[in-house]
Amino acid sequence: MARDLGGQIAEAVDGAGPDTVLVGLIGKGIQRSRSPAMHMEEARAQGIDLRYVLFDPDAWSGAEPAVQDMLAAVEAAGFAGVNVTYPYKKAVVAHLDVLSESPRQVGAVNTVVFRDGRRHGHNTDFWGYAESLRRGLPAGPFGTVLLLGAGGAGSAVAHALKSLGVRRLLIADTDRDAAATLAAAAAGAVCVDLAAAAAQADGIVNATPVGMVKLPGTAIDPALLEPRQWVSDVVYFPLETELLAAARARGCTCLNGAGMAVFQAVRAFELFTGREAVSARMRATFDAFDHAARAGGERS
Ligand code: NAD
Repeated sequence: MARDLGGQIAEAVDGAGPDTVLVGLIGKGIQRSRSPAMHMEEARAQGIDLRYVLFDPDAWSGAEPAVQDMLAAVEAAGFAGVNVTYPYKKAVVAHLDVLSESPRQVGAVNTVVFRDGRRHGHNTDFWGYAESLRRGLPAGPFGTVLLLGAGGAGSAVAHALKSLGVRRLLIADTDRDAAATLAAAAAGAVCVDLAAAAAQADGIVNATPVGMVKLPGTAIDPALLEPRQWVSDVVYFPLETELLAAARARGCTCLNGAGMAVFQAVRAFELFTGREAVSARMRATFDAFDHAARAGGERS
């Protein structure tokens, strides 16, 4: 297997025809990403020849290229675009020509499209979270929402919540500066007392990494949850986090992180190919990873 950027690009373009759509993901520690399967399965179902390549400097020998060099290399090789993830979502912005509304609000880009000699930046996490909430919790209520975590995901979630009409957004983060910065950008307020904020909230969103398999626990004491509240977790490995399990046991309406993960890919697919994606099909591919994991498979 190719062990550097140039080698992977050479492999990707080898045998590609004029209709081949070359896309990928630039990020670190992404070897277990579900994006290649979601994009390639959807493309296959639509009769599109699409190749999705994981560009992960952690998996390469030698020095780590700068994000602008990775971008330039895939652009020069004829890629239609790339997804971008940790730790490059903010750094990549300076190397783009056109930003759509979502990254201008969020301050980060997770999808770059190369078109007409220009680099267009989008943030499909924003739309992905909004769409998952629209479908999963259509009735809200969206009066007051407590958001836990003001990092990359939290920023996309905060702006998505505002776009859905949330009136009062309370933001909590162990890093008070991060909470204050996001509160200023998203017309929210820094939460000073978690118990008081939880009591006022119609809904609570976890956008911290707490609850992931490698970081078990909950970012809020589940004893603070009330049955009238909805609880949404953006963590998707596992899908049923400790927070969601506790919320469900208390009678709260729950939304897991799969929707955001799938719908960000749905929108990215449409941006890359110009073709509408079938979200149920991409969801089925996403879910197949969990079935494989439960059956003792390698993918998860
Ligand atoms: P990040 O490191 O950018 O931000 C995490 C933030 O949470 C940081 O500001 C940190 O200070 C804060 N935090 C950590 N522990 C906390 C606690 N106990 N209480 C309050 N704040 C706390 O990470 P990120 O990129 O925003 O990712 C966060 C999680 O969201 C990850 O688990 C990631 O896998 C998940 N995610 C899911 C999707 C999806 O599509 N479902 C998309 C992006 C990220």
